[in-house]
Parts: sequence; C-alpha cells; structure tokens
Amino acid sequence: MNERTYHLMLVEDSTTQAISLTALLEGEGWKVTWVSSAEKAFSVLRDCQPDLILLDYHLPGIRGDEVCRRIRMNVDSRSLPIVMLTSQEAHQVQGLDSGADDFVAKSTNPEVLLVRLRTLLQKSEAKDRIIAGSQDSFREVHLLAIDDSAIFLEKLKHELAAEGYKVETALDPEEGLERLRAGRFDGVIIDLIMPKVDGFEVCRQVSEWRKKNQFPLVSILLTGAESTDNLSKALDAGADDFVGKSNDFSILKGRIRALLRRKFFAEENNRILQELKHKELEALRERAAKEAAETRAALVEELEAKTEELNRSREELRRASAAKDQFLAMLSHELRTPLTPVLAVVEDRSQDPALPEDVRRDFEMISRNVKLETHLINDLLDLTRITQGKLEVNHDPVDMNRIVTEVVAMCCSAQAVQPKITYRSAGAQAMVIGDAVRLTQVVWNLLQNAIKFTPADGGSIDIRLTQETVGGVPCLALEVQDTGVGIEPEMLGRIFDAFQQESVQTTRMFGGLGLGLAISRAIVERHDGHLRASSGGPNQGSTFRLELPVQDASSMQMPEGNQDDGDKSEVAGQPPEMKERQTWRILLVEDHQDTRDTLARLLRRRGHEVHTAGSVEEAARLSSEAALDILVTDFGLPDGNGIDVFRNVSQKQAVHAIVLSGFGMKEDAQRALDAGFAHHLVKPVEITRLEAALVHG
Ligand code: ADP
Repeated sequence: MNERTYHLMLVEDSTTQAISLTALLEGEGWKVTWVSSAEKAFSVLRDCQPDLILLDYHLPGIRGDEVCRRIRMNVDSRSLPIVMLTSQEAHQVQGLDSGADDFVAKSTNPEVLLVRLRTLLQKSEAKDRIIAGSQDSFREVHLLAIDDSAIFLEKLKHELAAEGYKVETALDPEEGLERLRAGRFDGVIIDLIMPKVDGFEVCRQVSEWRKKNQFPLVSILLTGAESTDNLSKALDAGADDFVGKSNDFSILKGRIRALLRRKFFAEENNRILQELKHKELEALRERAAKEAAETRAALVEELEAKTEELNRSREELRRASAAKDQFLAMLSHELRTPLTPVLAVVEDRSQDPALPEDVRRDFEMISRNVKLETHLINDLLDLTRITQGKLEVNHDPVDMNRIVTEVVAMCCSAQAVQPKITYRSAGAQAMVIGDAVRLTQVVWNLLQNAIKFTPADGGSIDIRLTQETVGGVPCLALEVQDTGVGIEPEMLGRIFDAFQQESVQTTRMFGGLGLGLAISRAIVERHDGHLRASSGGPNQGSTFRLELPVQDASSMQMPEGNQDDGDKSEVAGQPPEMKERQTWRILLVEDHQDTRDTLARLLRRRGHEVHTAGSVEEAARLSSEAALDILVTDFGLPDGNGIDVFRNVSQKQAVHAIVLSGFGMKEDAQRALDAGFAHHLVKPVEITRLEAALVHG
C-alpha cells in the first residue's frame, strides 16, 4: 500500500545472501542498492540517502556495529533506520548499542523480516537535516602512495582501489610532497628506502606540514625490515604507523582502515562539537531575540500607559485651569459687588458740605482704602490674564507726556506729605502706539512705588521723558529716579517676578502684593518696550527706566475722546437730545440689595426719579408700567443678565442704557457695547462716574 518506492541499501559481503535478500526486497517493489563493504556503503551515502540500511554484522575488516556508529555520527544520516543482520545473540546486543534500530537473525522467516522493515520505513518518514553539507564523513577516501618502485605502487594502488579508496602515486618524494600540499588527502603511505630522500625525512616533512596547517592526515611508513629501532625512528619522525612491506596487503589494509577510522572518528567528534556550538549559539540568539522582543513590548506598553497618564493629567490640568479662570472671574465679580454701595456712599459723603470736616475726612479715608482694595483685586485679575497670555492691549495713538503729567498731578494731589516730585519732558508731544489705560497703569505703578519707597521728608523723585534712539530704533524713554531705600543688587533681577518683594519687612512696612512690577513689565512687553530697574544698593535710591518704540508722530491721528478718557468702554456715542435734561426717569436693576438701595438713594438725592428691580422679570414688568429715560442694570442677575433686561425694556420704549458689571474683562465690556449699551462701568462704581455716564446721556 506504499505510495512511494522506498530505497534500501543492503550492505552484505556474501553474494549468495545478497542475491536472495535483493530478490525478496525488490519483490516488495523497493529499490535495492547492494554494496559488499563498509567503504562502498559510505561511498553510496556520500551521494544519496537511502530510506533504510540493511547491514550485515560481519563485513571485511570492520564490524557492523562500527559501521552503524559511523552512520549515526553523521548528522544527516543519524536518523536513517538501520537493521542489523546477525547470526549471534551477542552481536545483536552490540548492534543495538551502536545505534541500530532493529536486528534480524539471518535465519528469520523472510515474512517477519519484511514486516519489520515496513514498520521501520513507515516510522521514519521524516528526517531533519540540521547542518547542510555534512556528507563529509562518507566522502571518498583519498590516499597518496610514495615509493620509488613503480611495480609496487601499481600493485598497491590496485589493492587499495578494490577497498573503495581513491589512490594516487608518486615515484619521487619531492613530487609526492608537492602533491600532498596541493591536494586534499586523507592518508599518505611512504616507502622508507628511497634513493634521494629517505622515508623518515618525508615523514618528518609531512608531519610538520600537517601540524602547521592543522590538517588531519594519516601517515604510514612502509619498510622492508621491521626493526624496533626503525619503528621508534618512524614514530619520532611523526608517522602514525609503521608496516612491513610485503606482497600480502591484508595487514597494510587493516592498518589503513584502523587509522582512517580513528581519523574519521575525531573528525566526526569535532563536527558534532561544532554542531552543538552552533545549536547553542542559535538557542542563545533566539533567547536574546525573545528577551529583546519582550523588553521592547514591555517598554511600548509602559510608554503607552505613561502617554495615557500624561494625556489624562494634561486634560485634568486644562480642566483645572479653566475652572480656575471661571473661579477668578466669579470671585472678582463677587468681591467687587459689595464694594459698590460702600464706595458710592463714602464718595458722596466725603463731598457732602453738610457734614463736619473731620467726618468728611473719615469718609475720604474709607474711600481711599476701598479704592486700594479694588486696585488689588484688579492686579490679581491682571496677573491671571498675563499668565494665561490673555492680556489684551489696544493699539491707539497715545500721548505719553499727557499720561505722565496726569499721573504726576493725581499723585501730588493724593497725599499732603510726600517726596518732592519734579517732571521734565523733552517735547510737547510724545506719541506712541498703545493702550492709554494700561500705560497709565504702568506710570502710576512706577510713581506710586517711588513715593512709597522714598522718605517723604527730604526725599525727591525726578521724572524725565526723553526722545532717544536705542539700538537704531527711535524710542521714548521715561525715567523715574528716586532717592529712596534703593534695591539690593541680587533683588534687582527678581523684583519683576510676581509676588516678589525685597523682604518681609518691606511687605510689613509698605504693603502691596509684589504684583505691580510684574504686571507693568508684561504690559510694556505687549507694547514691544522694555522696563528695567537700577540702583546703587540700599539707601542709594532707585531708577526705573521704561522704553517704548515710537512711530512717526505726523502719521498718527489722535482719536476723539482720547485726551479725555482712557477707558474706551466708558465712551460711546449717545443721543444728543438727552444731554439737555439734568434729571431722569431711571430704572435701576440690581440684585444686590445694598447696592440697589444705596444707588437708588444717591440718585434720588440728585433729583432723579428712580424705579428699582431685582430681576429680569421685575424689570420687564416695571418697564411696561413706567415711562423711562435711562436703564442702569447689573450684568449678572438671578434669572438672566443685563442684556436680557435691555432687550425687554427696549422692546417697549427707547432708553439710554448703562450696564454695571463685576466682570472687568475687555470682552465683557465689548459684549455689552455690542448689545447696545452706551456705557459699561466696572464695579465698584463710584457715584461720580455713574453721574458722568448719566450726564453724558
Ligand atoms: P508692591 O506692590 O509690593 O510694591 P511691585 O511689584 O510694585 O510690588 O514691587 C516689587 C518690589 O520691588 C517692592 O516690594 C520693592 O521691594 C521693590 N521696589 C519697587 N519699586 C521700588 C523703588 N522705587 N525703590 C525701592 N524698591 C522698589
């Protein structure tokens, strides 16, 4: 039932046995190659791989177990099934020890033999080749014989060829050595007595050459007279064996076989060693590759986890930052709202001629401090905008000379006792492109600091505004120089960082949060300018220098109103006919009761008719009932916002609208103005500012 034709090699020296076995096997449809000696078997294995070997235990000069061992030593043929044909029990054991797969007695029933062979053939279908090209151990054995007798050489060649060896001959030792070096011989047979060079010498040269080239070569010295002396001389010369020359070649053949077997055995061992090393190396390489892959996978996994974590943290941070923004906006609103009624009342009272002088002064003090608190809230908000890169500045033509003059005037009127302030300006107009409100804030901060850190008694502050060229760029330089406490050199670089003050004492003595300069520098940088400080050290005074790039003044157009009011949100177009009347019908919408009551009272005291509402709904109702000229509404209301109120009211009647807001952001103001409000006043609202907005109305 076999689909393929199996190829069997029969190694059997008995022709009769061989013929009968071949007939039996071919009868099965198998192909049989018959060889009569081990050498011939190796020669067949060199060229092809049969599927099974049937091996006689008794072969000429070699036992079956030896042959078996050699076949097993070869990597390619080690898994070839071998069946040993034996006649004695003991041989069977030896055959199996040497690696035969089965043994069959020669007397066995042929049917039994066939069954065993079939089983083995089926079992060993697959064979794995581990190292390619390792047919070496079955290669044809190549011998060289060196002798001055042509007749002997011819005879020797004939005898050895019959054994399966390939034999070359050389009459001249020199020529023999030459050929030996050039070819790839397994063994050399050297005659001892030769005319030119004797065998010992040839042997010596052979042995030197093979040592130098590490070439495994078997050498046999042939002699006519076998003496102990010659034997030891031969071994000294490096010969592997010493054999008497005779017409009976059986001893020589036996010796050659034995030597070659040893040589092949060593070679095979070496090869197995190489193979093991190779396999070990492969295993190591595989393990290293596996480990590298595992490490890589672990790293990738870790990296992915870290990236995910990072993304999560980033998202959390973004959310926290958004929440903080929201919180700050709300906080500022909440902080400013209660200040409005306080400021409105104290402002009003501080100017009430009916009150005694000392009471008016108390109100002035309260007013100053409420304004200071408002200033601190604004600073904190500004800082938030700066850190978020949200600080916006206008780009309008601004007269710095005017700004400095006004700030100096304000500071001089604010306190009775303060250092002597002098201001010198190079030109009448000093125009830059920028934000008037923000630049006023910077100049105000520099001058306030100079006043704060300079003794009122005997100290002086010198302010200079000059046109200069810095690094080829025309610029405006403002210097505020004082004779005050000065700044430590190591502090100079840090005072522009937020929350930096020279010392705790400074904080205790002079107050402040350490935000003014950080905000000022950020504003100046948004104007492409520079703000620097210098000082000779403690008590040597300080100089702050502000540089702003200037544009060609002639190309600038002063916007209307720029000279009067820096806060754009508070100037907008108003209907001209409203300017005539001085008392108005006002709807005041405010959910903060104190603010609502105070403002209503103050407005009524000024002769206005005031209706009050605390929500969008209430305002809508009132606007249906009462005739109105002006709407003053808070922005944030419990049931909507100021824009909702304005929309509701203006559907019923035309009003001039003013929004009060705790949200001081530019975009809030813009939103209100876009919605149609004429003014956007940031809380806390002083009554004078509100009045101005009404009068403008
Ligand atoms: P603060 O509100 O605390 O004054 P600033 O940012 O305006 O905050 O100033 C930071 C610090 O720089 C001050 O606390 C002070 O130590 C120092 N400083 C600012 N201006 C002067 C000055 N003219 N003379 C001496 N020190 C000054």
